[in-house]
Parts: sequence; structure tokens; C-alpha cells
Amino acid sequence: MVVPLTNEPSDRWAWVEIDLNAIRKNTRAFKGLLKRGTKLMCAVKADAYGHGAVECTKAMKASGADQFAVATVAEGVELREAGIEWPILMLNQAPESAIDTLVAYDIMPSVYTSEFALAYGERAAAADKVGKYHLAIDTGMTRIGVLPEDVIEFRHAIDFHRGLSCAGTFTHFATADSAQDWDFKLQAQRFMDAVDALRNAGCDVGLVHCDNTPGTVLHPQLHNDMCRAGIGLYGLQPCELTAPRISLTPAMSVRARVTRAIYPAVGEGVSYGLNYRVPTPHVQIATVPLGYADGLSRTLSGRMDVLVHGRRARQVGNICMDQFMFAVDTNPVRSYRRAQPVAEGDLVTIIGEDGDERITADEMADLRGTINYEVTCNFGMRLEKVYV
Ligand SMILES: *Cc1c(COP(=O)(O)O)cnc(C)c1O
Repeated sequence: MVVPLTNEPSDRWAWVEIDLNAIRKNTRAFKGLLKRGTKLMCAVKADAYGHGAVECTKAMKASGADQFAVATVAEGVELREAGIEWPILMLNQAPESAIDTLVAYDIMPSVYTSEFALAYGERAAAADKVGKYHLAIDTGMTRIGVLPEDVIEFRHAIDFHRGLSCAGTFTHFATADSAQDWDFKLQAQRFMDAVDALRNAGCDVGLVHCDNTPGTVLHPQLHNDMCRAGIGLYGLQPCELTAPRISLTPAMSVRARVTRAIYPAVGEGVSYGLNYRVPTPHVQIATVPLGYADGLSRTLSGRMDVLVHGRRARQVGNICMDQFMFAVDTNPVRSYRRAQPVAEGDLVTIIGEDGDERITADEMADLRGTINYEVTCNFGMRLEKVYV
């Protein structure tokens, strides 16, 4: 009889566990880096990097966060519908067809075309509101924003509109996480020059902000009025440089339970393609009900470990859409690292700690050839989140 963990879903033996205490602790750590009065904007886009936007937003606010950032209109609406009333910035422009939704839900867009800005001002005025926005400046990332040399002209083209109000001015760094800081310094210089020029031209720039997680930790001279942290709030380091500077606690664990465990005959194959063959007697093959549709990249097939009974076991065979298998060598003649057999219902850790062992999102990211951000976002896809 399996004794379920607190909050474990009743209908599926696979879930994401979110430690809200870690989120609170990390948020306080970031707030602690800021001078009094400097605001903290928390990036809760992509369902809070897979951690659950509504719960994380509440935990962050309770720990000193001031504002929140989303990537899409729907993400902003989700927070508003959950009763969240704090400022929300969308880190992009929206299609003009979404403007009425932005106005109705009081979601500030980032703005960089005058067509969009004026259409937004029109719809806000029509609703008897003032459309707050943040001006995005492209200082070198070449993603979104007005080019620094065009910012004054841009503001002059839209500032006449009574339906518009600039609540912030920001840029985004491409290399805040790099030890090579020439490009970073150039972006920072372009940004501060553009802000100065706007102020000198009499424009209200609102809150000035540019630092993301690595910037906030490594470049305090650029905190300005607000920092925009994301990954660090979830307890992950954006790069090796930040690790010695701030202590963070990962908030996400990914767990499952064994749904079947058998001892196939030597030579039997495992999973699509039968790429793995049982090599010796006493090898147990255990099945876990979690697959690539849950965010466990198929590129990890045969290359990752899981934790069971506080020890590592090798995942074997191709990862399927909804399940994967792992092998446990219980061979009694191998006294060295002989593993205890697993049984249906045993707890399996895909990300997180079990006993003295731990598998981090960074370990998985390295195996996949990606970054920890993508690993946690991916686990947000389908698994139920439980909060502890
Ligand atoms: C995602 C994002 C952030 C947060 O970045 P982290 O590296 O997770 O801190 C900040 N600003 C913008 C514009 C973003 O898109």
C-alpha cells in the first residue's frame, strides 16, 4: 500500500512539487540586494518558468515583490482573474486586436511602435482610462524596442495623446551573465544615455529598469528604479558567476512513482526501437508514468539518471510521450553498488533530492545542451503542480 505524500495528486503518479518557502526565501534574497525604494519586478512569464504563476506571484508579493512581468496577454489575464491586483507588465507589444483586453484587465504593454501606442491610447481613452505603458529600448539585443537614436522622436510622436502615460522605460541585456563585459557596457551606456536624453527633452520616463537576474546580482550600479528578476527567484543560477554572490534554493522537484517493475529475460529490449537490451540477469526494468509530453526531453533517452531509494539509477530505452523506463541492477554477485529492488509505487525523483543524492535542473540542462530555464519551463507543460 503506497502512502501518498502531502498534496500528492490522487489521479496521477507523476507531479511537480513546488517549495513556496524557497520562492519566498529567494525573493527576499533579491529584495535584499536592492537599496531601499528600489522596486523588484518578478518575471512570472511561462507560468512562472513552469512553477505556477498564480501561486508564485502571491508568494513573491508576500516576500517584498512590487510588480510582475508576463510574456503574453493570456498570462496577464490569468493573474487578474485569480484576483491579483498588483502592477503587471507584458514584456512585449500585443497584436492591436488584444488592446481592449489589455485595457480591461489593466495589463501594461511594452511599447515600441507608434501605431500600437496610439491605438492603445485611443482604446484606453474610449474606456475613460489612461493607458500605462513601458517604453522598450533596443540597446543591442536586437529583439524588441525603439532604437536609442529614435527614442525622442518616438515619444514626440505619441506624447500628445491624452490616453497614454509612460509608467516605465527599460531595456534588456543580451550578455549580463557573461564575464566578457564589453557588449554589456555598451548596452548599459546606450540605455543610460537614452534615458538622459529623454529626461532632458522633458519626457516623463516613469520607472527606469534594465537589470535581469544576472544583472541584478552582478551589476548593482544599474539597478535604477527597478530590477526584473526571473530565474533566480526560482532558485536557479543564470550563470556560474552569480553562484558565489547569492545563495538560492531551487523550488522545483519533479517526482513520480513506479507503475511496474519486472525482471525481463536477458536480451529482451526496452521501449520504442528496443535500443536498450537487458544485459545480465537480475536487471529490473521499472516504468514511470512521465514522458516527453510532460517536459522530459526525448533527447535525454539513455543518458539521464533518476533517483530511487536515495540512489541513482540509469534511465534506459527511448523516453516515450507519457512514460519512461529505468534499470536497476539487483545482481546479488555484484556487491559493488548493488541496488535494492524497486516495487510498484516506489518514489522516483527526476529533479530534486532523495536522501543524499540530488539531480539538478542544471545537470539535466547540461545533458540536453540547453539552460536550466528551458528545463523548468518544460516541466510546467502538463504535470500537476503541488505546493509544499
Ligand atoms: C525573462 C525576462 C527577464 C527575466 O530574466 P531572468 O534572466 O530570468 O532574470 C527580464 N526581462 C525581460 C525583458 C525578460 O524577457
